[in-house]
Amino acid sequence: MAEKREYYEVLGVPRNASEEDIKKAFRKLAFQYHPDRNKDHGAEEKFKEINEAYEVLSDPEKRTAYDRFGHEGAEGYFGRGFEGFGGFGGFGDIFDAFFGGTATRTRRAPQPGADLRHNLTISFEEAVFGCEKHFDVARMESCSLCQGTGCELGTSPSKCPTCNGAGEVRRVQRSIFGQFVNISACGRCGGEGKIIANPCAQCGGTGREKKKHKIAVQIPAGIEGGSQIRLTGEGEPGIWGGPNGNLYISIAIKEHKFFKREGDAILYEFPINFVQAALGDEVKVPTVDGLHALKIPAGTQTGRIFRLKGKGAHRLNGSGRGDQLVMVRVVTPTSLDERQRKLLQELAKTLPSNSEDNGGQDKEGFFHKFKDIIG
Ligand SMILES: [Zn+2]
Ligand SMILES: [Zn+2]
Repeated sequence: MAEKREYYEVLGVPRNASEEDIKKAFRKLAFQYHPDRNKDHGAEEKFKEINEAYEVLSDPEKRTAYDRFGHEGAEGYFGRGFEGFGGFGGFGDIFDAFFGGTATRTRRAPQPGADLRHNLTISFEEAVFGCEKHFDVARMESCSLCQGTGCELGTSPSKCPTCNGAGEVRRVQRSIFGQFVNISACGRCGGEGKIIANPCAQCGGTGREKKKHKIAVQIPAGIEGGSQIRLTGEGEPGIWGGPNGNLYISIAIKEHKFFKREGDAILYEFPINFVQAALGDEVKVPTVDGLHALKIPAGTQTGRIFRLKGKGAHRLNGSGRGDQLVMVRVVTPTSLDERQRKLLQELAKTLPSNSEDNGGQDKEGFFHKFKDIIG
């Protein structure tokens, strides 16, 4: 037998064709090659080929399997090769369905996949500058053993005996208005027209299994703790052709040894000794970019705040960076040697004893004060 043609090629539609386009193309070709009207040599073969292509491409699940695994993938859904016309009873029914008959096939309604959640803890610097993170998420995917068919290897789903493969059950109802046919999805096979007699040992016949999936996510610079990032379509796959769920990533930020964040500002408390405070000094303070020079003027009081422009966190909207605020804390020495004590006693004789010059005491606490400055 010649190699199978691409289903899209058979129907003459592009790979991204809509369901409507596929239906239209099939309708046109089926009409043209239907064995009842076309007695040309090869027309029947052609008609079968068209039907087979349509059966796969019109079913979102089969189409996905076909797109991913080719003919083998799609064949898993209706057994080895092409048997009859799947859910339809034959040429007549398929024709009816499209040209005015009553055989509307009931299928399971598409359901969106469930959302997934993942917690991610990043470092202080990663939050300030942004980063790319990689992690694994376990989600349901097509079973690797049976390729999603749910059947034991070497077997295929068999025709549902209840609906004889039609996927639907018809009941004739009589009323005063006359007789009509009530069509509902087959309860035994759930509208699939097939049942799995020998379920796959790996997935138990569901055709799905939990698999680790690698995720790479770009964390924007300036992100704050407690933020959530949504990755559309990275959740559980949809069922019966429904859309995939989303993946929500909750961001936590590790505490830094000495920095704190307040929006786009970085807060830092810098200890100096009281001589530096009294006489002034040129010092280097840590920033997220490395050490940065800071001039402490003579007579600096504890609690004074210096602003290092542009040394804060990136702004989430991309408009530059905030500032680093350095709050100076004057440290009182706790152990003095004999010489230091003598020097201080000398100094003490020159200073007033009560404290009209004791500097601004910080009553509200460091970080309140920072907050006032940031506004
Ligand atoms: Zn399986
Ligand atoms: Zn059935």
